[in-house]
Amino acid sequence: MRIAILGGGVVGITAAYELQKDGHDVVVIDKNDSVGTETSWGNAGLIAPGHSFTWSSPAAPMIMLKSLFMADQSIRFRPTANPAQYVYALQFLAQCTAARSARNTARKYALASYSQKVMHETIKTTGVEFDRIDRGILYFYRNADKFRAGAEHMKIMRDLGHTVDVLDRDRVLELEPALESVAGEIAGGVYCPSDESGSCFKFTTNLAAHVARNGGEIRTGETIRAIEASGDEVTGVTTDKGTVKADVYVMALGCQSPILSRGLGETLRVYPIKGYSLTIPVGNNPQPPTVGSVDEENLVAISRFGENVRVTATAEIAGYDTGHSPADFDFMASVAKELYPQGADHDRPQMWAGLRPMTPTNLPIIGRRRHRNLYYDTGHGHIGWTMSHGSARILADVIAGLPPAIALGEINDN
Ligand SMILES: Cc1cc2nc3c(=O)[nH]c(=O)nc-3n(C[C@H](O)[C@H](O)[C@H](O)COP(=O)(O)OP(=O)(O)OC[C@H]3O[C@@H](n4cnc5c(N)ncnc54)[C@H](O)[C@@H]3O)c2cc1C
Repeated sequence: MRIAILGGGVVGITAAYELQKDGHDVVVIDKNDSVGTETSWGNAGLIAPGHSFTWSSPAAPMIMLKSLFMADQSIRFRPTANPAQYVYALQFLAQCTAARSARNTARKYALASYSQKVMHETIKTTGVEFDRIDRGILYFYRNADKFRAGAEHMKIMRDLGHTVDVLDRDRVLELEPALESVAGEIAGGVYCPSDESGSCFKFTTNLAAHVARNGGEIRTGETIRAIEASGDEVTGVTTDKGTVKADVYVMALGCQSPILSRGLGETLRVYPIKGYSLTIPVGNNPQPPTVGSVDEENLVAISRFGENVRVTATAEIAGYDTGHSPADFDFMASVAKELYPQGADHDRPQMWAGLRPMTPTNLPIIGRRRHRNLYYDTGHGHIGWTMSHGSARILADVIAGLPPAIALGEINDN
């Protein structure tokens, strides 16, 4: 079959790869000049099933309320005039009960760990290069009480089957000697040795090149204006360059998915959650980070991608605006400099803000809705790089009429 994939982020490109593997002719359409240059560009790069905790948790309502008055909250609600923001906030809050949070976390973990297995197969088959570091992810704490609470909380992941080690300060420094300058401040860490990190952008562009080499068509610089339908069938996609026709269509437009699907009468519960990142060259500095990590007190994630260090932070419910000013990065830049003073050229950061396509449950939307030849693969939220590969395989199996590794009923509740 000819399958058109709408969107060339990591979700669209992994879908194209899995569908091509199954023998389909694939065409990917993306508005930007290169694939992977929207949200898939600036993320933290953590491939972290151990980070599957849902953000819609019992603690979230108070955090969001406090964020109206205090700037230092992990999830910030910034009121705008857009009613969709309030609708999303209510849907998100409805998922914050202890029972729903536990169920959604378990489901995310299942998808994330399956996804990592699929990614390993992709790496083995294609040799795709993406500055991978497979030494685990370290979550470290500065305060002893918070460390104890964090270690206790991680038992949830251990009960789900994840390997979790609790490390004292010496073992944290053994694992990451580059944290030497803050050694005295570290209380301990929680370490997930099977988690990993790497550049999502590099992976996406290199996998797209693999798909193109194998006959796939990657159409960049082409904006989708509308999806045309007749009855329960999608008949084509109208772009600024003409019409693209296929037997089957896959919606992988990230945060733009609900906007394009609205024209089809479909309401998708996907809303943008803004985050910020810095990309800082390692330069000639002798002690860059060697393992992906999260400073749990400051909620700043740090990873190394080859010649660069990536620093990310913040979750803002604030609409579709990706604007930013240098002041937005002051705190995360100061944390990175404090942790790794000799790890990067801190005076040469590249600043970026992007939007996580987030559903209320934090699980993606995969599969068909009212149109028989339109499939969704969207809404991957804060761990979309981690969940993309498995989502793509599940999508391909569903299109093939095969039972997917995880039933759609265990994913779709958005
Ligand atoms: C600060 C931050 C940190 C993160 N850290 C991590 C992490 O450590 N680990 C992890 O797993 N995930 C992380 N994520 C989440 C992850 O980046 C996203 O879930 C993932 O990139 C979403 O991929 P996507 O392909 O759905 O969306 P996108 O990458 O946004 O792709 C959608 C594509 O659709 C295209 N498009 C949109 N509209 C149109 C149109 N009209 N016509 C044509 N093309 C169109 C866009 O150009 C874009 O390329 C993070 C996100 C942020 C913001």
